[in-house]
Amino acid sequence: MKSVKGYQCKECGRVFYPERKICLGCGGRQFKKIALGKEGVLLTFTKLHALPMDFESRTLMLGIVEFAHGLRALGQLSTDDVEMGMKMRARWDVVRELDGVQLYGLRFYPAKR
Ligand SMILES: [Zn+2]
Repeated sequence: MKSVKGYQCKECGRVFYPERKICLGCGGRQFKKIALGKEGVLLTFTKLHALPMDFESRTLMLGIVEFAHGLRALGQLSTDDVEMGMKMRARWDVVRELDGVQLYGLRFYPAKR
């Protein structure tokens, strides 16, 4: 389990996720990795029903979580028992298996209260 990192432009300080080659704010090309903190706030979410047939589950929850620095990231949600504004914990985790290969991505879990 790895913590989630953002990429901050060395020129203007804007933070991105995922990593970019060129800053959208100033065109800068140098970034440094920064920790985003473990928790963010769930801004919005959606439940997908029309998934490709090779998905092992029939539905998928996706959400956008806002972290420190105002960074917003899209990821899979661990549950459909969520509401906007709740605190979510981010992990870099297996999001699906394809032909026996584990694919990693951002996955958000409700933060323990
Ligand atoms: Zn920049």
